[in-house]
Amino acid sequence: MSAGIKDLGTRGDSIVGYNCVVLVKQVPDTKRVTGQAMNDDGTVNRAALPAIFNPEDLNALELALDIKDQFGGTVTVMTMGLPTATDVLRAGLFRGADQAILVTDRRCAASDTLATSYILSCGVKKLNPDIVLCGRQAIDGDTAQVGPQIAEKLDMPQITYVEDLVSLNGETIVVKRNLGNGWQEVKGQLPVLLTVLDTANEPRVPRARRLMKCKAAKSRLEVEKEAKEDASIDVDAVCKDLEANGLLIRQWDLDFLEADMQWCGREGSPTKVHRIQSVVLAAKESKEVEPTQDGVEAMIHELIVDHTIG
Ligand SMILES: Cc1cc2nc3c(=O)[nH]c(=O)nc-3n(C[C@H](O)[C@H](O)[C@H](O)COP(=O)(O)OP(=O)(O)OC[C@H]3O[C@@H](n4cnc5c(N)ncnc54)[C@H](O)[C@@H]3O)c2cc1C
Repeated sequence: MSAGIKDLGTRGDSIVGYNCVVLVKQVPDTKRVTGQAMNDDGTVNRAALPAIFNPEDLNALELALDIKDQFGGTVTVMTMGLPTATDVLRAGLFRGADQAILVTDRRCAASDTLATSYILSCGVKKLNPDIVLCGRQAIDGDTAQVGPQIAEKLDMPQITYVEDLVSLNGETIVVKRNLGNGWQEVKGQLPVLLTVLDTANEPRVPRARRLMKCKAAKSRLEVEKEAKEDASIDVDAVCKDLEANGLLIRQWDLDFLEADMQWCGREGSPTKVHRIQSVVLAAKESKEVEPTQDGVEAMIHELIVDHTIG
């Protein structure tokens, strides 16, 4: 096992639990949009919005913690982001995760969903988990592509829109999917990737004691930053101490992940943004529709006629 990876234990004939990796993303709180939320060029002014735990990732984490409570095993939270994304990992730890991993590297910048999922798949591969859990969707990018793309890259079965764990027995998992207009029970074989809905559960309230303890969790980068301001800090000694207490946030770069650079960052991102436009509807462009069957039918007819839908 490579340095820096906690031994998650192995499962043979006697099941000793399931090793879960939860992918968590730090996102701007799009519910608290103020006047300064957008830059003049139409991009999001991230500094003006508080950063939060992507809501559906909390549901994915809760499902992983529930699996650990029922069957034993481990829960690892992993994020790809800037060094400041450790906040979301600390939150993962105080909510009950056993270890936290920050994938951070300047060469990740400008990654679209394809590059993001490639980089995260390299991180997941290092951990060789039984179950990978993602939120269905991030509230900033909103594509819902990252989970399914990771499964494809790892050649792992995926079950999306998960609302409930029905059973987990040996290598067989049965979950309930919510399809919007009905439910489906799906049986799959481990290892598997699940994308989890916000209706799946109610994330638990963290225990005050654990919250206080895990607030002290840090990455090496954070310790190094503190050492720049206080020469008495011995970075190696502090990191060793944090590790001994399960409070060291591991930091992986693209070299550690053995990532192929052609699939990372700008080079690995086929999506090109040609124009960003802030759309403000003028009153004459909006139309009131009668909330009746006839009103809705007339609107649909109009949309089909002008080829908006069809
Ligand atoms: C052309 C282009 C350029 C971009 N450039 C940048 C850039 O320079 N800098 C930048 O920050 N973003 C950039 N982005 C945005 C970035 O690609 C997305 O944030 C990222 O791919 C995730 O997509 P999403 O938000 O739609 O996630 P979704 O697919 O909606 O997320 C689904 C789930 O996947 C998991 N997940 C998603 N992202 C992460 C993550 N980072 N870490 C851990 N788990 C995750 C979570 O479980 C989440 O609930 C760019 C996007 C495009 C299209």
